[in-house]
Amino acid sequence: MTIPTLELNDGHTIPQLGYGVFLVPADDAERAVSDALEVGYRHIDTAAIYGNEAGVGAAIAKSGIPRDELYVTTKLWNDRHDGDEPRKAIAESLDKLGLDQVDLYLVHWPTPAHDNYVHAFAKLIELREAGLTKSIGVSNHLVEHLERVVAETGVVPAVNQIELHPAYQQREVVAWGAQHGIRTESWGPLGQGKYDLFGTAPVAGAASAHGKSPAQVVLRWHLQKDFIVFPKSVRLERLRENLDVFDFTLTDAEMAAIDALDPLDGSGRVGTHPNEFN
Ligand code: NAD
Repeated sequence: MTIPTLELNDGHTIPQLGYGVFLVPADDAERAVSDALEVGYRHIDTAAIYGNEAGVGAAIAKSGIPRDELYVTTKLWNDRHDGDEPRKAIAESLDKLGLDQVDLYLVHWPTPAHDNYVHAFAKLIELREAGLTKSIGVSNHLVEHLERVVAETGVVPAVNQIELHPAYQQREVVAWGAQHGIRTESWGPLGQGKYDLFGTAPVAGAASAHGKSPAQVVLRWHLQKDFIVFPKSVRLERLRENLDVFDFTLTDAEMAAIDALDPLDGSGRVGTHPNEFN
């Protein structure tokens, strides 16, 4: 099974499907990531705040998989935007991960009340130049934040990782990103299980039409939208299921029916609004 890759605006490539480890407990992370690598995942999405970078690193070390076959993302937490904190933070993350370099480093949230996310991204540019990360990007940035980052640093982030699932499609920020060469990564791609996405007619109908599970249909929808996606599960059978999404294609009508699940008034959001997270 080959996982497709997408090219980023800096020339590097990223596997379009990966494994996210938000809420994977520190003491289970090594086991869960080892299982994920074993079944074929090569892209791991973690963050300093998840508290499980050491487990991710232990699994990577044990796997014996060559470093250049793995794609590792981690993120700068909100209390480390100021001064030279980003450099200290990435050094701590690399130490826990047992790596010399991550593939992608993100400003986790803009925390606009502190108004230092532009400085944080400017520091990430230096970290990239120092070789500590290959690519740099942001997360939870709205158009107003992206505009400032690009205008004030002159660098376009490679990705913006945002809450995105059928009931909350963030069309404005996705379109702005596409116009400016920013790839969209969908977090909470399955809606974090917080609403009955799998029971909706478009998802359930496509699942039975293709002989796949509702989760596989939703992941397929993200992939066909050109989003990068890394669903989380700690269960081996679901890790396998979430990877087994390359043997079918949703029709245009099925895609359009899932597109129509967004109430378009913002009420489908399951996480915190970026301007309220400070
Ligand atoms: P998700 O939408 O991937 O939902 C995960 C939940 O879905 C699991 O706990 C499980 O209960 C269920 N699930 C997974 N596979 C399933 C299957 N095949 N069938 C049925 N149920 C299934 O939500 P998430 O974990 O929040 O998002 C994915 C990743 O995105 C995270 O692990 C993390 O890496 C990233 N993330 C980033 C941010 C951010 O602020 N940048 C925030 C949240 C998550």
